[in-house]
Amino acid sequence: MGKVTGFLEFERVPEAYEPVPQRLKTWKEFVIGLNEEQARQQGARCMDCGTPFCNSGCPVNNIIPDFNDLVFRGDWRNAIEVLHQTNNFPEFTGRVCPAPCEAACTLNVNDDAVGIKSIEHAIIDRAWAEGWVLPQPAALKTGRKVAVVGSGPAGLAAAQQLARAGHAVTVFEKNSRIGGLLRYGIPDFKMEKSHIDRRMAQMQAEGVDFRTGVLVGAWPEDCKVTNDALQTIDAAQMHAEFDAVLLTGGSEISRDLPVPGRELDGVHFAMEFLPMQNKVVAGDKVKGQISAAGKHVVVIGGGDTGSDCVGTSNRHGAASVTQFELMPQPPEHENRPLTWPYWPYKLRTSSSHDEGCERAFAIATKAFVAGSGKDKGRVAALRTVNVEWQGGKMVEVAGSEKEYKADLVLLAMGFVAPVASVLDAFGWPRTTAAMPRRRPTLSMPTAPVSTRSLRPATCVAASRWWCGPFAKADRPRGRWTNS
Ligand SMILES: Cc1cc2nc3c(=O)[nH]c(=O)nc-3n(C[C@H](O)[C@H](O)[C@H](O)COP(=O)(O)OP(=O)(O)OC[C@H]3O[C@@H](n4cnc5c(N)ncnc54)[C@H](O)[C@@H]3O)c2cc1C
Ligand code: SF4
Repeated sequence: MGKVTGFLEFERVPEAYEPVPQRLKTWKEFVIGLNEEQARQQGARCMDCGTPFCNSGCPVNNIIPDFNDLVFRGDWRNAIEVLHQTNNFPEFTGRVCPAPCEAACTLNVNDDAVGIKSIEHAIIDRAWAEGWVLPQPAALKTGRKVAVVGSGPAGLAAAQQLARAGHAVTVFEKNSRIGGLLRYGIPDFKMEKSHIDRRMAQMQAEGVDFRTGVLVGAWPEDCKVTNDALQTIDAAQMHAEFDAVLLTGGSEISRDLPVPGRELDGVHFAMEFLPMQNKVVAGDKVKGQISAAGKHVVVIGGGDTGSDCVGTSNRHGAASVTQFELMPQPPEHENRPLTWPYWPYKLRTSSSHDEGCERAFAIATKAFVAGSGKDKGRVAALRTVNVEWQGGKMVEVAGSEKEYKADLVLLAMGFVAPVASVLDAFGWPRTTAAMPRRRPTLSMPTAPVSTRSLRPATCVAASRWWCGPFAKADRPRGRWTNS
């Protein structure tokens, strides 16, 4: 703890944003990171708690008190070393992680939490600017070949660790660019894609081979999940070619809303709408881009994905944007004694909401209503009803039916599962409930100990929070063992 009285002397200073009218004109990031002096003061606020709750609140267990102290002392070089010990990609998490560490911070009990995420952001941006983020190729190679299927943050982190442990790693990605939802879900205004390209170059220099446009396994017809693949490789080929296969395909099936009128034009999954815009920003030609320009947009779903639809619609120039949430409006402030150090239940207003959006809570959609005349195949309105929750059950409020004008409806109600045919191809159960329940014990042999053979293995690495690839790793068939 560099400054014993830091938390008494300094207020929390949040990162600044560019003004709304300015940022709505571009797809660029608009968060203005802390300057050096601000970051040092924010680091000084950390009390270096004997039991650092921030550290266990963080999904990758970042060693937060140590890097806070190093930033306070101006030792940025060691700060990035500490941060990289637990986090492969702090430039991603420093931008888009919801920061459960801050909810868990001891200062959050009766004051404002240490601005951990903004400090992390400052450390990694400085490290890249100073040229401190360099490839770390393995000194010794194991001679083992590992395939990573899916290039989202889980797959990328796993691939980097495996390559650094000396294995020959190939990442397979069905889409045309690397990054998973970081690339095609999260809009550029939240995270510019040059951050992914830079890491990809680092990983290539570490020996990772990237194969885009290649689908592994099998693909169902009529699947609305983004799939740019030009080539398919089946599971048998993968097992023949690699010592181990890691499935890191994410959870791509969107939750649907099968109410009357669902088939109308203008009703789309968020993950049909958002990838198109990200591709356009990347310079791709997109046929029939779904545009919100001049439209009354209703986003169904009150989470991060919904919020990204709001920000994207406003940048398109929507006539109005309304976001529905089925649950009642949470309180503005959490009940800290009740919730700390856990993720609190409270109203969350994102930067996209601040850019212009009506929010409706405790509202359910009963039907999508078609237009008339030439618009009869298109959505023109939504029929809704207010709901209440009684004893955990949703009950409609009599007489609260209403129609909302809508010519674009975006479904952002979460994701239910990975694409089943890919799991089937590898003989994996389709539900997490049916997956073997074991502690995550993926141990990665390092170069010196793994000169003996590894049995073929298929591992599933799915991360709920995207920096935790190993949180869900398991070894149901075959193991990483020295035989
Ligand atoms: C719009 C949106 C906004 C979000 N915002 C945030 C946020 O602000 N903060 C946050 O923490 N989280 C956010 N998330 C969640 C976060 O992006 C995901 O949790 C995370 O990307 C999951 O990582 P993953 O690597 O498990 O899977 P994914 O990112 O889904 O990557 C899986 C990859 O595998 C590929 N793939 C799948 N099957 C195959 C196959 N058979 N063959 C080849 N390739 C395959 C897919 O094409 C994809 O590229 C957001 C999600 C969305 C959709
Ligand atoms: S809980 Fe907060 S004050 Fe305590 S060590 Fe972590 S960041 Fe510092």
